[in-house]
Amino acid sequence: GEMYGNIRDLMRRGLPPEYISLLEHAGEIAFNMGYRVYAAGGIVRDLLLGMECLDIDLVVEGDGIELARALGQDYGARVRVHQKFKTATVLLPGEWQVDVATARMEFYQYPAAMPQIEASSLHQDLYRRDFTINAMAVSLNRDDFGEVVDFFGGREDLQRGLIRVLHNLSFVEDPTRLLRGIRFEKRYNMSLEPQTLKLAQEAIRSKMLARVSRERIWEELKCILLEPRPGPALARLAELKLWDFLFPAVDYSKIAPVIDELPRSINFLRSCNVPGIGETWLIYFLAVLHQMDRQSADEILSLYRLGRRQAEKIDAALGGWRDVVEGLRCHIATSGLARRLISVPTETYPLILAYLETNELRRRFCDVLTAVSCEKPAISGKDLRHMGYRPGPAFKKALDAVWQARLDGIVSTRQEELEYAKEFLSKYGGER
Ligand code: ATP
Repeated sequence: GEMYGNIRDLMRRGLPPEYISLLEHAGEIAFNMGYRVYAAGGIVRDLLLGMECLDIDLVVEGDGIELARALGQDYGARVRVHQKFKTATVLLPGEWQVDVATARMEFYQYPAAMPQIEASSLHQDLYRRDFTINAMAVSLNRDDFGEVVDFFGGREDLQRGLIRVLHNLSFVEDPTRLLRGIRFEKRYNMSLEPQTLKLAQEAIRSKMLARVSRERIWEELKCILLEPRPGPALARLAELKLWDFLFPAVDYSKIAPVIDELPRSINFLRSCNVPGIGETWLIYFLAVLHQMDRQSADEILSLYRLGRRQAEKIDAALGGWRDVVEGLRCHIATSGLARRLISVPTETYPLILAYLETNELRRRFCDVLTAVSCEKPAISGKDLRHMGYRPGPAFKKALDAVWQARLDGIVSTRQEELEYAKEFLSKYGGER
């Protein structure tokens, strides 16, 4: 194999010390077992780019499961084994994990013998990967710890900013790589290498993605939506004519301005200290769907088999976001806005904000959000009981009315709230 460059120092600078010691320890275990072990994939790519990477993928020339078990034992970690794939996941305390794979063992000299591990089994493992920048490894073995293994020119492609497949059938073999390629291209601000782009366009023209299950497509789509800035990748999906297949009946050109506005909206909400606006993938997914009627949206949701809870959330968002925008534009009272706001999920907020065209409206929106999350009535059902009312359905209505009056500034002290509740209950049938 072609090896060049040792990144031991880069690793020490770029990885937390506990990662380094784990990687070195994996090397020791492998040495004692007579195996060789490498860290492969994203970790090498991101180290070379100077970016943070928290996934550790190990490839073992030898029995990966055995090595994973030993590692788990030494770290007091649980090990999840997938016999069928000869892989294992070491679940370390503190939410980090190490995936261990077995580089394919090539041949057996005679049936009961120890498998002879071909010198190129790492090569084979890396050759099955998606792009050159993801197909590098770094040795963890004590004799050459930190040596980069780069059979396919991943380092050069990283430097030149190119996403390149390893062979011409790559997209045919696994069409989800189309989505992965676009994700990496936009995440790292690189480009699909010209020949790779040509192969991608051919695969798209012959509808390769239609051969893949929607579950697998959703997995990769969700990865795109989970990127810190999914906008450019979504635009690229449209540019490469994948959009109609992925989001039937959504007109990309109509939602593009909103998608482009979302990063600013999200920043604005953060700067207003709006607490938790929820999951980013859902924010973007809602923006993709927001102009559809429910039925067409539901078709997409069932296409990707989204769970009922998520589907309900999305339905609520689609049914309610316009009312909030209209309410703000028409300057209705805070209580009215609050009522509309609590019927939509928080992930709708950036979308709503993207529709507000003036700073004044945007400020007002943030103020209402703050009020809704902070303002609570000072009185409770207990106070109403003490006033001699009998608990019943009117209680909740009265407290709700107090909350709304508070939002609108009609009441502000506890005393005022009590009087407001009393008046409400005597008018609307609270029983004493
Ligand atoms: P991220 O930073 O998004 O986690 P990653 O490179 O770690 O990026 P994963 O999806 O976790 O991405 O995949 C880990 C590695 O497995 C990749 O670097 C790649 O080499 C390989 N891989 C994943 N999916 C595929 C695929 N569909 N085809 C080929 N190789 C793949």
